[in-house]
Amino acid sequence: MAQKSKIEWTETTWNPITGCTKISEGCTNCYAEVMARRLCAMGQPKYKNGFNVTLHPQCLDEPLKYKKPHLIFVCSMSDLFHKDVPDEYIQKVFETMNKAGQHTFQILTKRSERLRKMSPKLNWTPNIWAGVTVESGKQKIRIPDLTATGAKIKWLSVEPLLTAIDDLPTDGIDWVVVGGESGPKARPMKEEWVLPIRDKCLETGTAFYFKQWGGLNKKVAGNLLQGEKWEQMKAIFNDESITDIPEENIDNIINKTDSVHISDNSFDSDTTKLLERLNKLEVENNNMRNKLNEMFNNITVPEELKNDTAIPPTEPDIESLVNEFLNSEESITGRHFKEFNTEATLMVSFGI
Ligand code: SF4
Repeated sequence: MAQKSKIEWTETTWNPITGCTKISEGCTNCYAEVMARRLCAMGQPKYKNGFNVTLHPQCLDEPLKYKKPHLIFVCSMSDLFHKDVPDEYIQKVFETMNKAGQHTFQILTKRSERLRKMSPKLNWTPNIWAGVTVESGKQKIRIPDLTATGAKIKWLSVEPLLTAIDDLPTDGIDWVVVGGESGPKARPMKEEWVLPIRDKCLETGTAFYFKQWGGLNKKVAGNLLQGEKWEQMKAIFNDESITDIPEENIDNIINKTDSVHISDNSFDSDTTKLLERLNKLEVENNNMRNKLNEMFNNITVPEELKNDTAIPPTEPDIESLVNEFLNSEESITGRHFKEFNTEATLMVSFGI
């Protein structure tokens, strides 16, 4: 069973490579370096080379051992596109991700040039997200490299946010995570740097995740932005995903599917927008369609939603929305799909 990660925006990590070298200002207080040195001192065999780039071919098939679908951060202790990682090894990492269609993989790199260069040689199955770190305005140059890749889901890690970033380009970007640095040497982050990024994401329909303020005690500083939590995730769906998943994995996903939530505090103005989004999805697999039908028939509308007089949220509204969803034309995902909207949220979870 995969170990739960402490990183808020993922579930678990997979490290077929460890070690790295610093490349930009975001690396100054690299958490992976501190951890690697500590694990080396503790005699952990995987970290016997400390923070030097080390390949671990014995870990390449690790995700294939997890039956239950997971959201997996790839190379949390390294950078997959580091110059010391051979092309062939990166391709092997991709081969595992291609085979493990039940999982969703989150890649993150600061080596965007190499990412771009290698992209045509990689098989970007829909379960692989590609992301680049943009810790300051200077690093916006990494974004065109990302958008040139074949990844279906593209994301930005704006962490640690070190300066104001003028006009962060979020068009064509599916998900943005923002966070401040934590630890004893944390560099401070200002609210006025974060808000324009959030607003830009709202403008372009990009999911926005505010991870933390950071600082010496990140728990105390918390993750409220003007009193609100922002933990939007990217919907995981596209045209091809379900056809890529082996039948036995689909059954597995269906068996573990146990929750449908409609949670909301204003179901009015954005219902149409939400419908449009849901129309993009189709449940091609009959089993999954039946299972979803069954679940949707048992939806209960939260009391607070029913009682909100400012809006007309009635059960038939939700039913018709769900029917639209079930009758629409595209396919739904491997692991789960979550559709978040700032004002209306329909969330379906498969086995998480
Ligand atoms: S790229 Fe990431 S892992 Fe490598 S040194 Fe920088 S922060 Fe650390």
